[in-house]
Amino acid sequence: SIPLFLHFVIYRSTTSTTLPTFLLVGPSGSGKTSLLTLFERGQPATTRTSQTPLTVELSLPLTTPAASSQYRSAADPSTQFHKKFLLADTPGHGKLRHHAFDTIIKPQNLKGIIFMVDAADISTSTSTTGAAGNEALRQTAEYLHDLLLLLQKRANTKTSRAPPDIPVLIAANKLDLFTALPAPLVKSALETEITNVRNSRGKGLLDSGIGMDDIAGGAGEEREWLGEGGEGKFTFGQMEESNVQVSVVGWNVVGAEGPDVQGWWAWVGENL
Ligand code: GDP
Repeated sequence: SIPLFLHFVIYRSTTSTTLPTFLLVGPSGSGKTSLLTLFERGQPATTRTSQTPLTVELSLPLTTPAASSQYRSAADPSTQFHKKFLLADTPGHGKLRHHAFDTIIKPQNLKGIIFMVDAADISTSTSTTGAAGNEALRQTAEYLHDLLLLLQKRANTKTSRAPPDIPVLIAANKLDLFTALPAPLVKSALETEITNVRNSRGKGLLDSGIGMDDIAGGAGEEREWLGEGGEGKFTFGQMEESNVQVSVVGWNVVGAEGPDVQGWWAWVGENL
C-alpha cells in the first residue's frame, strides 16, 4: 500500500492544481449555454443534452493581461504561456440553482462569478410578458439578490481565515439587439429592483413576526438584509463592505457582427 506521507503528497498536489475557476450563473435564456459552447466549439449553440453542470477549460489570450502576471518580468518564461482556467456553467432553472450555491459555499479555487443577464428581456419598454411591471427584471433581481446575500453571509462568517474575495461580473448580454438596455441602465434597473426585493423580503419577515434579531441569533451577527442597514436604495457599491466587487459589463455572444466578448476577457484577466 502507499505510505501515509505519499497520500498527503498526492492530496496536496491534486488540491493545489485545481485551475482557477469562474462560475457562470443567471436566469434561463440569458445566454450561458451560448457562451460556453462558443468557447468550447468556436460556435454558439443553445442546446446541450445534459442538465448537469458543464465545465470547459479555457486559456486567456496572450494579448489579455492577467493580474497574476503583473509583477513578473517579461523575461519570465511563465508569462509566455497561456493562463488556463475553468468556466463552469450551472443550469439556470430555479430548481437546479443549488448547484451554483453549493459551489459558492465550497469554493475550489473560485476566482469569480459571472451572472448573465438578458439585457433585452429586462428592458421595461419591451417586456413581452404583459405582466404588471417587468417579470423578467423582477426574477433576475431576485436571483441576484439571493446570490449577493449568500456572498455577504459568507464574508461575515467568522472563521480563522477570511474567505477570499469573490468578484461578481454582471454580464449584460445580447447588446447586439437594439431593444437591449446599455450596461449602465442594466445596472441601475437591477439596483432599483433589488431594492424592491429587499424591501418586500424585509416586510415579509415583519409580517411573519420574525424580527431581525431572531434571525441573527440574538446578537445581530448575521442579518438577512442585503447591503447597508438603512432603508435607502440598494447599490452594488454596498457589497464592497463584504469584499464583493460588482462590475456591470455589456457584450454579446451571438449577433450579426459575430460575438463581442472582449470586456469579458478583460474582466477574467483582471481576476485571474
Ligand atoms: P441559457 O439558458 O442561459 O443557457 O441561454 P442560451 O444560451 O440557451 O440562449 C438563449 C437564447 O438567447 C438563444 O436563442 C440564443 O441564441 C440567444 N442568445 C444568446 N446570446 C445572445 C446574444 O448575445 N445576442 C442575441 N441576439 N441572442 C443571444
